[in-house]
Amino acid sequence: MSRLGVLGWPVAHSRSPAIHNAALAALGLPGWRYQLLPVPPHLFAETTVGLAACGFLGANVTIPHKQAALALADQASDAAREIGAANTLTFSADGGIAAENTDAPGLLACLPRAPTGLRALVLGAGGSARAVVWALKQAGAREVSVWNRTPERARRLAEELGVRAVNAPEAADLLVNCTSVGLSVERSATEDCALNQLGMTFDQVGEYSDVIDLVYRPGSTPLLAAARAHGASTADGLDILLAQGALSLEAWTGRRAPLQVMRRAARQED
Ligand code: NAP
Repeated sequence: MSRLGVLGWPVAHSRSPAIHNAALAALGLPGWRYQLLPVPPHLFAETTVGLAACGFLGANVTIPHKQAALALADQASDAAREIGAANTLTFSADGGIAAENTDAPGLLACLPRAPTGLRALVLGAGGSARAVVWALKQAGAREVSVWNRTPERARRLAEELGVRAVNAPEAADLLVNCTSVGLSVERSATEDCALNQLGMTFDQVGEYSDVIDLVYRPGSTPLLAAARAHGASTADGLDILLAQGALSLEAWTGRRAPLQVMRRAARQED
């Protein structure tokens, strides 16, 4: 049996097992399984170094382990090193661990148009914002700005990655939400309330022609609902999850990921 999984804490909500197991079946790899690996931070290192001996070929890594995953690896891609986080680990037979970050190319694969020459505003200054800012810069965005609820974190991220921190959201071509706002919003709560947490009004959302929300949940997030009402091109967190997951799967199996099958499996639970 060839084993894969997703390391996180908490991770029970993850759709990655459904998505990857559907893909593995479609690829005709019946001996392969992808499973949840719920591991608290204090057990992350000792659990992860033991996975190869238990038949694991690789693992995705999610909150809160992405930085620890990079630190644990023997080798890391330039992207993972420069972002400072890894979401994909590959285990070799000799016990080596290689780290990659597919969040960045996953985001780029979902953009409605190439970011070359565009102005982009990134909301948030956590782990995913780092990967998104790095990806947009690498892909040639003309200007990348960062806004965050806690301005000091935005300033630090902007300084480290060579972009601009702003005190309030500014108009741009592309807007990417990398905060968790919208994740747990009550259906009954007004959408304006969630937008206000992002420093925005409904009308301001109309200032962006392309809007991406990393948050995924059944139905639409308040930000994407507002963006669609303004006629923007959009991608949601499930699109991003699929794109980064497909890249991880291709690295482990050496096969092209069956995206349609993965998309169906992801959306089935909505
Ligand atoms: P993180 O490192 O914990 O960062 C969280 C960010 O959200 C911070 O910037 C934080 O601001 C902001 N935030 C949290 N609550 C807020 C509120 N009430 N109002 C305004 N800002 C708030 O998390 P992360 O890893 O970057 O992930 C962020 C989100 O993206 C999560 O929902 C995660 O599920 C999602 N995500 C999705 C994918 C995907 O594949 N679709 C991949 C990665 C992440 P402060 O600094 O002020 O606390």
